[in-house]
Amino acid sequence: FSSVELTQHFLDRIKQFDTSINSFITITEEKALTAAKIADTRISNGEKNPLIGIPIAHKDLFCTQNTLTTCASKMLNNFVPPYESTVTQRMLDSGSIMLGKTNMDEFAMGSSNENSFFGSVKNPWNLEAVPGGSSGGSAAAVAAGLIVAATGTDTGGSIRQPASFCGITGLKPTYGRVSRFGMIAFASSLDQAGPMARSAEDCAHILNSIAGFDEKDSTSSEAEKEDYTAHLNQPLTGLKIGLPKEYFGDALDQEVAKVTLDAVKEFEKLGATIVDISLPNLNLSIPSYYVIAPSEASSNLSRFDGVRFGHRCDDPKDLLDMYMRSRSEGFGAEVQKRIMVGTYALSEGYYDAYYLKAQKIRRLIKQDFVDALSQVDVIMGPVAPTTAFKLNSKTQDPVAMYLEDIYTLSVNLAGIPAMSIPAGFIDKMPVGLQIMGNYFAEAKLLNVAHQFQ
Ligand code: GLN
Repeated sequence: FSSVELTQHFLDRIKQFDTSINSFITITEEKALTAAKIADTRISNGEKNPLIGIPIAHKDLFCTQNTLTTCASKMLNNFVPPYESTVTQRMLDSGSIMLGKTNMDEFAMGSSNENSFFGSVKNPWNLEAVPGGSSGGSAAAVAAGLIVAATGTDTGGSIRQPASFCGITGLKPTYGRVSRFGMIAFASSLDQAGPMARSAEDCAHILNSIAGFDEKDSTSSEAEKEDYTAHLNQPLTGLKIGLPKEYFGDALDQEVAKVTLDAVKEFEKLGATIVDISLPNLNLSIPSYYVIAPSEASSNLSRFDGVRFGHRCDDPKDLLDMYMRSRSEGFGAEVQKRIMVGTYALSEGYYDAYYLKAQKIRRLIKQDFVDALSQVDVIMGPVAPTTAFKLNSKTQDPVAMYLEDIYTLSVNLAGIPAMSIPAGFIDKMPVGLQIMGNYFAEAKLLNVAHQFQ
């Protein structure tokens, strides 16, 4: 079948099922069909890129030229970027077809996709459960078969946790592996884009397209990118898997622990050996992340002032009134809370006590991983303490919501790559297994995941 037929198939599925799932903010039907025709011509001209003509979607925080980019915020409700992000440009160059922009937590702040101005996303496995967040729309769309694959971003777990909750595969690359140019920033020292798809192999194809140095992002790594599909069939004989004891403590649901450990045993059958390790500062990841991320967010989000783009209040009295009302009307509750926490943590007199201290803890967390990864090839553990929880069950309890991130945040603080792959089910809800690796070990992670799948 042609790309036009494939594109039409997925557009029909989106129309049929997304009224109940709400995974898309914008559907770009006309542009997609035009692009699919071009892709069909490229294919008939003998072009070979595996992504040509493949329908995909982008999280709505990647700037897409002439296509609405909202970050799921009222603030950017009418923002049509004049330029293209590097990730979406590279996906365009590879010939993939963008069918639309996916729903998310506002400015990527959340773990349940309940913080979207465009309404919450439903988990396709159970419409009363959350899909996870913040890349919940991307995860739900892939899981429901509304799209072949999607992009997401992960600042503290936002690719891995929704991938786990929706039973798909997601990869957060090493910090700097994928360009952040044109990605609306949340916490710049933690943000990283990555693929969300049905398999490690599909993720590898997308990473091949989006990874690599970009002069438009000063934190982009100059390390040579690999061919991520070339090493997908390496045997796992002799692979050393580290199991951190802190990941299996009281916070973890017992059934999730069982599914996780059963999955790890499968790797033993494939020739791997299990080594008990320790990441002693795990418990410090939530407090340090929830100082660092809001601090960076408060600075990044200061650009939304109602002047250059985004929402502006009606009839401002004066400049200050315009700033204040535009921002309080444009930002949702979670975003405002984080801006306040971050501004406080960065303010004179508190900077040393909070921000600087959090950065020192971050260094310890990073060192834990460096030490552990000098003894083992990969680290495995749960992605989240539970399976997807019920909608509205944690919205009133921010601490319970932040605890969801306990197994994912430290990876971003350290900057290492990590994946979530489907490991099993509990009461018909998917459970993910997290695989963490050394800096720039994406090819290894993808191979390990591929052997399991
Ligand atoms: N859940 C975390 C938060 O709310 C992580 C979000 C993310 O990775 N973008 O900040």
